[in-house]
Order: sequence, then structure tokens, then C-alpha cells
Amino acid sequence: GRTVHQIQSGQVIVDLCSVVKELVENSLDAGATSIDIRFKNNGLDSIEVQDNGSGIVSENYQTIALKHYTSKLSSYDDLSSLQTFGFRGEALSSLCALSKFHVTTARADEAPKGTRLDFEVSGQLKSTQVVASQKGTTVAVEDLFVSLPVRRRELEKNIKREYGKVLGILQACACISTQARISVSNVMAKGKRAVIFATKSNQTTRENIATVFGTKALPALVAMNLSFELQPTKTQEPASNSEPTFGEGRQAPDRQMFFVNSRPCGLPQVAKIFNEVYKAYNASQSPFIFANLSLDTNAYDVNVSPDKRTILLHDQTSLLESIRVSLTALFEKQDQ
Ligand code: ADP
Ligand code: MG
Repeated sequence: GRTVHQIQSGQVIVDLCSVVKELVENSLDAGATSIDIRFKNNGLDSIEVQDNGSGIVSENYQTIALKHYTSKLSSYDDLSSLQTFGFRGEALSSLCALSKFHVTTARADEAPKGTRLDFEVSGQLKSTQVVASQKGTTVAVEDLFVSLPVRRRELEKNIKREYGKVLGILQACACISTQARISVSNVMAKGKRAVIFATKSNQTTRENIATVFGTKALPALVAMNLSFELQPTKTQEPASNSEPTFGEGRQAPDRQMFFVNSRPCGLPQVAKIFNEVYKAYNASQSPFIFANLSLDTNAYDVNVSPDKRTILLHDQTSLLESIRVSLTALFEKQDQ
């Protein structure tokens, strides 16, 4: 029934951040090289994510918003070598249940014509309509949590903080995404649309960071690409028996961005080591960090939490130790 679906949906789409994250990941999965994220009233009125990716084939219109539908998994084996962000097929179905939601999409051979898709709360396709559209997909989410009054009121109350958190996630995403330009804008009730930031195509990570945070931020930047060769798990234990998780709950402070294989994630233990080692060599203020850790995909599990920000490392102790050693070497070199 609908009630059950809404409660379960609340687990993938828990807040404004998860909406934006899921939609941007879908755009990246679709091979987009351009993504525009547009907020209205800090996201309270609407969130729109437009990409120039592959678009959606018409055979899939019926299914994309159904629960557990995904076009991204062909077999269970794919799970272990997961390359795409999505695979649970829950984001769009959740958004149907939790907001006023529609999709506009066009494949390369259809543009400049496209199709607007409207859905029932259940995720069933309600209607299609031919509209003008460039190649790609635009997903529009209006009145998030309209069907859950308590959650809606909470969002209204906390919108400033939520919006700030979203911008933090999008900043990190825009910096790491060298394959896609990303723009973020917002418009308040009576105001003009304001561009928050916009990266360009084919910028390096460093250029992206300069665009997003300003060139003045660059001298303070501790940027690292760290590669670690961790041993894959020796015994294939179930995830729940592994080391404690990274990334649950606590957000890294502002201007500290961590990635595993270019995937943004909260890494509080790694952040702690960065800050400790940094403070041993520098003044006490907290550093501006951009750290992308390259790890063997066998060395961790990503999709252990619905928001995929939690990473479960099979050998956390040796990773943390390697990071400490690499960082100490880096800062000692800079000290000379
Ligand atoms: P998942 O990403 O886990 O497959 P979603 O609910 O996020 O599940 O999306 C459902 C399906 O809708 C995707 O598998 C994909 O086929 C399609 N889809 C969603 N967003 C886009 C997009 N921006 N471009 C192309 N296809 C998309
Ligand atoms: Mg998805």
C-alpha cells in the first residue's frame, strides 16, 4: 500500500541532500558532460536537475519510477564490480511518493523534441506529452515531502542549514567532476536567479576548485591523490562483521572534501588523521583539504547505507596508517 511505500521511500530520500545527490548521480550515470542544478527558494519550492546525458529510451518510460526498477544491473554479479552510482532503483520511485515530480527527456535522435513524463504517486506512468527539449534529461521535484506533513515542516524549519549542506555536497561534486561541467543556481521568491557557481568543461580538479572556492583559496589547499594498495579481504566475511564503518553521521567540516575513487564520502577517521598530521606541522587553523583516495574496489563496500556515503573498509587500520605515513612525508617535504 501507499503508506508503506512512503515510509520506505523516506529511507532513500531522507532530506534535501539525498534528493540532489541521487539526481546528480543519475545524470553522471547517464554520461552527462553538463549538469545544471536549479533551486527555487533554497529547494523548498523546487529542485531541478538538467543534464545532457543519454536521455531515456521510450520503452523505459513505464518502468523508471517503479520501485526497484533499475536499468543499471544486468546480473547479481554486477553488484561486486559496481561502476555506476545507482543500482537500487529507488530514487525516482521515492520522489514520486514524496513530491510533485516530473521528468523531461530526449534521446539524441529525438531532440529538439522530447517527452514530458508525469507519474502517479505509486510510480506508474500517468501521462506523456511531446515538448521541446534538448538531448538529455531534466528531473523536477516540487514541494518535497508534500505527502509527509511532519517531514515537510521539519524541512521548512531547517531549510537554511539543509541548503548549506547541499551546497557543500555540490561543491565537492563539482570539484571532482572533470568529465562534467556543473552549475548551481537559486532563486528566492521575488528575486533574480543567482548563480552560486559554475564550472566549465574540461577543467582540471585544481581549476574546478579555483572556480568553486575562488583562486584566493588555492594557496591554503592541501590537495592529494593518494593511491593505496590494500589487500582485499582475506576471508569473505559478511559486511556486518567487518570493521566499523567510515562516514556514518558526522559531516566533515567545511572545506574538507574526501573521496574514494572519485566518489564523495564522509570519512571522519581519515579527516581526523589529516587534521592531526596537519596541525603537527602548521598553525592551528583547520586545513582546506581535497583528498581523493584511490583504493582497490575489493578493499571496501560502498552501498552499505542507503545514502551510499558510508564506506565500509575491510582493512581500516592499515589504510589509516598508510595515510598517516603519506601525509607525514608530504608535510615534512613542504617543511624543508
Ligand atoms: P537507479 O539509479 O538505482 O537505477 P533511479 O530510481 O535513480 O534508480 O533511476 C531509475 C532509472 O531511471 C535509472 O535506472 C535510469 O534508467 C533512469 N534515469 C534516471 N535518471 C536518469 C537520467 N538523468 N538520465 C537517464 N536516465 C535516467
Ligand atoms: Mg539513481
